[in-house]
Amino acid sequence: MELCDKSALDLATLLRKGETTSREITESLFKRIEKKEKTLNAYITTAKESALKQADNADEGFRSGKDMPLLAGIPIAVKDILCTRGMRTTCGSKILENFIPTYNATAVERVLKEGAVIIGKTNMDEFGMGSSTENSIAGPARNPVDPQLVAGGSSGGSAAAVASGEAILALGTDTGGSIRQPSAFCGTTGLKPTYGRVSRYGVIAYASSLDQVGPIGMTAEDCAMLLNVIAGHDSLDSTSADLKRPDFLQAVKKDIRGLKAGLPKEYFIEGLDRGIKKKIDEAVKLLEKNGVEIIEISLPHTKYAVSVYYLIATAEASSNLARYDGVKYGFRSGDDIDDVIRMYEATRDEGFGQEVKRRIMLGTYVLSAGYYDAYYLKAQKIRTMIKIDFDRAFKEVDFIITPTTPCLPFKLGEKLSDPLQMYLVDIYTVSLNLSGLPGMSVKCGDINGLPVGMQIIGKAFDEETVLRVGNRYQQIAGI
Ligand code: GLN
Repeated sequence: MELCDKSALDLATLLRKGETTSREITESLFKRIEKKEKTLNAYITTAKESALKQADNADEGFRSGKDMPLLAGIPIAVKDILCTRGMRTTCGSKILENFIPTYNATAVERVLKEGAVIIGKTNMDEFGMGSSTENSIAGPARNPVDPQLVAGGSSGGSAAAVASGEAILALGTDTGGSIRQPSAFCGTTGLKPTYGRVSRYGVIAYASSLDQVGPIGMTAEDCAMLLNVIAGHDSLDSTSADLKRPDFLQAVKKDIRGLKAGLPKEYFIEGLDRGIKKKIDEAVKLLEKNGVEIIEISLPHTKYAVSVYYLIATAEASSNLARYDGVKYGFRSGDDIDDVIRMYEATRDEGFGQEVKRRIMLGTYVLSAGYYDAYYLKAQKIRTMIKIDFDRAFKEVDFIITPTTPCLPFKLGEKLSDPLQMYLVDIYTVSLNLSGLPGMSVKCGDINGLPVGMQIIGKAFDEETVLRVGNRYQQIAGI
């Protein structure tokens, strides 16, 4: 096994024993990138020079015998939606193609402070809008399991990088499933924390009431390790929760005996791939055998979740994306045009891709006078009902198990011309963003070599249980 195929925790141990160096790990990673990146296209930007410098800094710390943070010297990939000082941040869009931020997102700042090594910026759907990483200025990312297949999205580059040994850990963002769904498709472990757990400062906004930053790794333990660093209150984000951060790495170690798991009947209906259902059934049986009580529950408003999500997400996006006007930053077209409105139009026309335009139009429509009450306001009301469904369920159970996706990874191009089909891939993930709840996708087997994801949903701010169940499952299933 090469260094780049090891878990973050194993590498942290090797570094402490002096059995490897961060430079060796980082070099092993870039070797893998050179070998696979042409096919996978997981990165929009790689930063070998600065990464090696960071690695040397970490090594110096280890050599001097300093007490180094756990993440020190570990290579991390960062989704290209998180601002990185001095490093191009495109958000997968032409409109930000040459945008170089002057500051770091808080999550980035925190991993750097721990001494982690930033490998580069990962490929993504433009502004996070998509489920396949095909809507990217850099071209599609591909699934390491089979390059004919999509990596999922929108954090497809992050998941593909981790799955292929092009990164040890990655940061993603999840507005409607963008950490969990690509994790399911690539066979990684990906956690969307509770809304407010991780600062959104420096995250380019898609839908502000839904966006959340989270870790992607090969194991629940590795996700816990990264969450320990990025979680916690940040005065730069007024929606970040002022709560004490638990030690997630300690939490994963606890047993799961005696916990109650809910199985929502609305998630196991027509449209769910039969093979996936079988794998989830097997995983649930395994949990039961290991002392978890299984209870059937009902989340009756689930059927509205995709519609509600695409009304609220597009409404917020249409407002957030108003800032790209060719003046403040990024791309500008129409310098020869002598009229500011027409310059805005030309900039936005050329700078945004098709899916982004579709969403801006939809969002502007649902917010417009006359339609606001019928669509946006109604969606907000149903959002509350979806949240109440979970509140009720969590009176009975400690966590909830569902599939992460209704289908296996699909072929590139397969759903691109049918946005509705693409939106339906999010059917099991969007409810958590609407309710603010934490959820993690863990691999629970393969079908013809293609990974299947199981979603573990927790109570608000109870990532500890989610990680603990995920970790225990990975141990007993040996996956
Ligand atoms: N696929 C969903 C969307 O396009 C979710 C994306 C995300 O979580 N960023 O909105």
